[in-house]
Amino acid sequence: MKIAAYTFNGQPGVGLVSKDLQTVQPFDLPEAQRALGALPIVEMLSNGAALPKLLDAIALKDVHVTAPLPKPRRNIFCVGKNYFAHAKEFAGSGFDSSAKSGGDIPADPIIFTKVPECVVGPDAAIEMPPAHISTAIDYEAELAVIIGKGGKGIAAKDAMAHVWGYTIVNDITARDWQSRHQQWHMGKSFDTFCPMGPYLVSADECDGTNTTVRCYVNGELRQNASTTDLIFDIPKLIETLSAGITLYPGDVIATGTPVGVGIGFKPPKYLVAGDVVRVEIDGIGALENPLR
Ligand code: MG
Repeated sequence: MKIAAYTFNGQPGVGLVSKDLQTVQPFDLPEAQRALGALPIVEMLSNGAALPKLLDAIALKDVHVTAPLPKPRRNIFCVGKNYFAHAKEFAGSGFDSSAKSGGDIPADPIIFTKVPECVVGPDAAIEMPPAHISTAIDYEAELAVIIGKGGKGIAAKDAMAHVWGYTIVNDITARDWQSRHQQWHMGKSFDTFCPMGPYLVSADECDGTNTTVRCYVNGELRQNASTTDLIFDIPKLIETLSAGITLYPGDVIATGTPVGVGIGFKPPKYLVAGDVVRVEIDGIGALENPLR
């Protein structure tokens, strides 16, 4: 199934998207739950509950689609340098404060987080900070895993049973902050720096372990890779994260970005106001956001 969160007549909604992507059928939920988008649905299904009652379908063109998880339950887990070619690209850029702790290819997953408040939906503007704050804004197209059944100490061999589904995340980054402050949290958590969407797609409809991630800037193809090229695959990421941290339904894991980010070009191709970034993942759809 595909789940969309949206606003319609000024009210938050969440519903099932039709196979032909023409309509959305709202779930009958109280407003406080609808405001959380797909989160209560993922929680219900992961706890073995039935789906809420469905109401009459609305044309998708008549609603304003928001991020499927407009208020994630907590920080978004992210993975750094998780495609072979991108790891070399980033280590060679001079902006990689993690490079001193190892070679180009990490021996263990590099994990950081983005604050939940930086999530925005499809077509929402990514806000450029003023020049005295940062002039090195970059894109990172990523497959995001949505956890279903939670748990701690999940073994890699059991991990895929904990995947509810997938969405797209654009891990927008202020490279100068990532380098200067020797951590990846602040420069990746600026307001609006986590475009997400357009839908959550359940794992029976999308094989996140073998799909293609593409990114276009102003129509120019910059990134194009298969998730089969991940250094640490989805089971390994879940095993690593859950070793010490209990995972919950609706947790988001952005799995890392492939080669082709702006910092990888000489000179770097940073984003500027007026640019449009489009991320496509086969089986999920497209997420497009302008820079403002
Ligand atoms: Mg990233």
